[in-house]
Amino acid sequence: MTLALVAFMAWRHNVRNKTYLYWGLGFLFSGIGFAMVAVRGQIPNILSIEAGNTIALCGQSAWVMGYLALDRRKFEWWVLLPPAVWLAGVFLPWVNGDYANRVILYNLASATGATALALAVTTSGVKGEKTRGKLGAIFVAQSVLCFGTALAMALLGPTDAEAANFAGLAAMAMGFLLTFACALTCRMIMERSEKQLRLLSFTDPLTSVLNRRGLFGRFDAIQEKAFDARHQVAVLLFDLDHFKRVNDRFGHQAGDHVLTVFARVARQYTPDGVFGRMGGEEFAAFTTVADQTEAEALAESIRAEFCRVPISTGEALIPATVSIGVALASAIEANRDKLISASDRALYAAKAAGRNCTVIFGEAEAAAPAPAQPDEKSGELVPTLDDQIYALRRVGSLGRG
Ligand code: GH3
Ligand code: MG
Ligand code: MG
Repeated sequence: MTLALVAFMAWRHNVRNKTYLYWGLGFLFSGIGFAMVAVRGQIPNILSIEAGNTIALCGQSAWVMGYLALDRRKFEWWVLLPPAVWLAGVFLPWVNGDYANRVILYNLASATGATALALAVTTSGVKGEKTRGKLGAIFVAQSVLCFGTALAMALLGPTDAEAANFAGLAAMAMGFLLTFACALTCRMIMERSEKQLRLLSFTDPLTSVLNRRGLFGRFDAIQEKAFDARHQVAVLLFDLDHFKRVNDRFGHQAGDHVLTVFARVARQYTPDGVFGRMGGEEFAAFTTVADQTEAEALAESIRAEFCRVPISTGEALIPATVSIGVALASAIEANRDKLISASDRALYAAKAAGRNCTVIFGEAEAAAPAPAQPDEKSGELVPTLDDQIYALRRVGSLGRG
């Protein structure tokens, strides 16, 4: 009953999450049910035997529902097995009138409950929670204990006094395992909230992409990947053009919307790499590329797609473009800070070249020390897709001519 109170109080913190409500009900039903069973002889048998055990077994169903709710899963039919098994057998005369047979039936019903708990915990599809496996093992142990007790009693045919000893021992072992299960459940919840907090600390709240810390933490993995594939490491730095004007003209909220759209577009194009927000209207991507052409194609695809996607305030279309600076390095020589600084210089050159374009620094340029004054003319200005289409059209018309 105390645990029920604790669980209900935890539920009040967030009433939308029903996990603690179900667990509280589980403890409440078990408490009421066992109390009713304990006063057998002092209250009518129908209340003590039929109703008391049914209520206690409903407690197991509520616990199973709690574990399902924890993983945002819906009701499953096997949740109701414990009280269903009990009610299916308890009205049979040879069960109802015989104490040992009732203990056997109760243990069978309780074993289905423990199996349902094991099922709820282990079939969630949630990966990477070590405690979950241990908790599943505890419930399997409970199930084996209850089945074992029922089987031993069925084979031995104990007297009522011996059956009471069996029931008492099984209940004590169950209580012991339940204490373990409670401790492991608390640990699993703590590990989960720790994981969520860690994820939050790596995520940008506005765009849901990685933040600077998350992005920087992934560089080594990208470098290793490039090393294994004998590829180069590319750092792409994005800065939205005249973003202050967007805010001034359409409002800060519209500016936020533009940032979200850009993050969505760019992330779509960097599935193998990592993409995140450096801060303000600046974003970056780390990825592996076979050569400079692949890096150019990636940057230009993002730039062109961002130009193409219409971004609307509801009343007007917001014109938004992005400038991109790219720096490349061989996997073995790639250094995060140097590459970011080189891509920043390339970005500066892209802004100087008129914005809405890409400037790329190959390995040699990226490795060169940064000049005191950034050189607006350095780097290779990547022809835009429009330029390329125009050039192809010209070649076509010359060919026809
Ligand atoms: P440039 O083309 O040279 O990059 O010009 P710019 O206006 O984009 O650059 P500037 O650095 O002058 O302005 C950046 C603006 O980005 C200023 C700031 O108000 C805006 N900004 C930064 N973070 C956010 C944000 O989270 N939301 C919105 N809406 N605006 C932001
Ligand atoms: Mg900026
Ligand atoms: Mg800008």
